[in-house]
Amino acid sequence: MEYSRLRTENNVSNEKISFDFSGCRVAVIGASRAGIGASVAHAFNNAGATTIITGMEDEPARTERGVFEYYQLDVREDNAIARFAEKVSSLDVLVNCAAIATRDQEHDPQSFSNTIDINLTGTLRMSKAFLPQLKESRGCIVNIGSMYGFFGSPRVPAYGASKAAVHQLTRSLAIDWAEFGIRVNAVAPGFIVTEQSRAGREDPTHFQRVVERTPYGRWGSPDEIAGPVLFLASELASFVTGHVLTVDGGYSAV
Ligand code: NAP
Repeated sequence: MEYSRLRTENNVSNEKISFDFSGCRVAVIGASRAGIGASVAHAFNNAGATTIITGMEDEPARTERGVFEYYQLDVREDNAIARFAEKVSSLDVLVNCAAIATRDQEHDPQSFSNTIDINLTGTLRMSKAFLPQLKESRGCIVNIGSMYGFFGSPRVPAYGASKAAVHQLTRSLAIDWAEFGIRVNAVAPGFIVTEQSRAGREDPTHFQRVVERTPYGRWGSPDEIAGPVLFLASELASFVTGHVLTVDGGYSAV
């Protein structure tokens, strides 16, 4: 099913999200394509935040170009992260969205390690790099987990292991950094129409299995992840920390 049709069916758009983040500085790591990160970044922007985005490519996708301050950043590279954190001198919200999933390749130990390095260690690296800024602002982190952090994932075993660990890292950092007033939460999306999920969606059996198991009977759109991320980052969630919020059309309730 095409993303444009899903958007119409879902009748969801970032413009309907009304949070006030004016005066806040937000960094969304892994927002270079028209995926979940980009949707989250647009939602923060619409809510008045100054939003910085990063990605692996030299330039972001056309829809994000010119809208955000953009940095090319590999979350495996300590030195590049340190330089980036130096440039962004103040920060209120960090959203860790960068991840890869390489279907049918992750049983290879090298591929496995690379996925863990990006999805899990990358999340830790970014969070640690911005700890001083977040201490200063008493800010917060929202990590992006996954259904595969709860359920087995035979075709992307490293991705699943990394996301289960991201959920656990979220809880651990929440406890560790509560003394600084920093909240750390995660959103665990269900199955969402993005570039990363293209390979899975092109497998008709997988596509249909997801539709049938999901009580809402469809895949989600990236915009449907943005609202819950903004909620967790907002004052409305001031007593919420160490939480992994499923946003999955009921997939995990079955
Ligand atoms: P996406 O569009 O592929 O976004 C992934 C982002 O991560 C891109 O901006 C990509 O940059 C960046 N990235 C990849 N490797 C990187 C690296 N080594 N260093 C820095 N950035 C890197 O996929 P998405 O589906 O929107 O995924 C966003 C998040 O949601 C991910 O954490 C994903 O695991 C999670 N999620 C997705 C689904 C789903 O169904 N789509 C479900 C559950 C969770 P480039 O594009 O420049 O390479």
